[in-house]
Amino acid sequence: MATLTFYGAVTDVTGSCYLIETQHSRILMECGLFQGDSATEKQNEAPFPFDASTLDAVVLSHAHLDHSGRLPKLIKEGFQGVIYMTRATAELLDVMLKDSANLMARDIEWVNKRRKRAGKPEVSPLYSIEDVEATLNKCRGIYYQKQQKITTDINVRFQDAGHILGSAIVELFVKDDNAKGEHRHKKLVFTGDLGNSCAALLRDPETITDADVVLMESTYGDRNHKPLQETLDEFNQILEDAAVSGGNVIIPAFAVGRTQELLFRLGERYQDNKLKQQAVFLDSPMAIATTEIYHRFQDIFNDEDTLSLRQAHASSLHRWLPTLQYSRTPEESMALNRFTGGAIIIAGSGMCTGGRVGHHLKHNLWRREAHILIVGYQARGTLGRRLVDGAKVVHLFGEEISVNATIHTLGGFSAHAGQSQLLQWASHFHKPRPPLYLVHGEPESKSSLVKALQNELQWHGTIAQDRQTITF
Ligand code: ZN
Repeated sequence: MATLTFYGAVTDVTGSCYLIETQHSRILMECGLFQGDSATEKQNEAPFPFDASTLDAVVLSHAHLDHSGRLPKLIKEGFQGVIYMTRATAELLDVMLKDSANLMARDIEWVNKRRKRAGKPEVSPLYSIEDVEATLNKCRGIYYQKQQKITTDINVRFQDAGHILGSAIVELFVKDDNAKGEHRHKKLVFTGDLGNSCAALLRDPETITDADVVLMESTYGDRNHKPLQETLDEFNQILEDAAVSGGNVIIPAFAVGRTQELLFRLGERYQDNKLKQQAVFLDSPMAIATTEIYHRFQDIFNDEDTLSLRQAHASSLHRWLPTLQYSRTPEESMALNRFTGGAIIIAGSGMCTGGRVGHHLKHNLWRREAHILIVGYQARGTLGRRLVDGAKVVHLFGEEISVNATIHTLGGFSAHAGQSQLLQWASHFHKPRPPLYLVHGEPESKSSLVKALQNELQWHGTIAQDRQTITF
């Protein structure tokens, strides 16, 4: 008999963390950061509710920080084992965790300046770049589909989840000997984050048909995405309008996934001789590093997009979209300020809370002919959200900037499966269907998905509770 205890991504979508205990081993699945408002993020500082030094291994579904971002803290608290993930996730994790540590170092410097002035003692960040290095040394990337022994009684197998490069559905096979000494296996399936089957470059989530228990994400459990063609038509229309008005197109983008999808879509337009803008700049060292990792893992792209790339003799995104230029240095980034129109500039951060995009907004927001294209979720309190909400004036680098540019919100690009895609994925499980627990979703999404599962598949799903322990 094995147990699983839910320690995160239960009441909300961040801080994924599940402890699995068997007769002979204890492993952790996911070790994510809590992200959001300050009360949510405060939870990262609390010690883990288990002894990190007694864990035998960690299994990671994908590189996003809400799944991986507390790993360096786990190492700081004494974890000695190996962290298993797919090969692409191991490479992306290097970029993500280093960026996370750098952001923490920058934030803490700011906090400590204020504390010093207030006569308070300095505080240290959640972890440092050295902790990240120690974490990366413990990572082991394995191939999709290959069953890997990770402890004496647990094997893991990763199946493509189609969410970001390297993302996986996790299958855990637990040896479970009964009282009579008979050998049996129990299988746990965890979806990780399931991808949107319309997304570019990535494959559809792999179908799974059997399990003894299923943990399923429910981020979009209450809604469906717009059809892809509608989103692409909207995207193309915005580029057309920008070409007519003669302004730049500024796209605040997330470095992992969304950026590569946009580059692929821009390339499609270029290949059809429809892209009017003469230059596309990728102005984010992190997004550039990630795009290069995507290139190295083209063997795990979907067949259709691989064929398009091959037919265009595009061995890289630079060949697929020859107008693409990387702005690596701050000087190269600043040089973009001289473009008053005709360029597409993709820069982070995705919610305009930092990074280089602020400078481009400063130089373009006030221009009537400019277009700002918002392609991802904007949290409350961020500059991106203020733009989406129709702010007439914003403050950037101590200056008041009027918002004269056209702001577009394009919600159709999503890295998550919508409700009908979640149901479609779940429908492949054989009957009698195993116990199903919903995680990683806002309360409304989860309850809506419970109803849909019941109505469409006659499958009773349970909403997982924080610190709840289940047996399987
Ligand atoms: Zn994710």
